[in-house]
Amino acid sequence: MTCYKEISCPTCGGHSIMKLGRSTRRVQRYRCQQQDCVTKTFMLEYYYKAYEPSIKEQIVEMAINSSGIRDTARASTLIKIR
Ligand SMILES: [Zn+2]
Repeated sequence: MTCYKEISCPTCGGHSIMKLGRSTRRVQRYRCQQQDCVTKTFMLEYYYKAYEPSIKEQIVEMAINSSGIRDTARASTLIKIR
């Protein structure tokens, strides 16, 4: 039985992707091969939720609106502070 999973770049949506090893937590890392894409590597799931693109956007938006790190963490229950 063959399983096929289509992977696209989270930034440009391109399908020209290659595997690029694994993280220290053994999660597969990928690299976008589009010439003009700003994303170099990405993973499909992150251990630290703050690295996910949707959460990262929220953090940047709150930082622009002069929210502190603790205020940002309180607003989002998904973000862990160590
Ligand atoms: Zn890309």
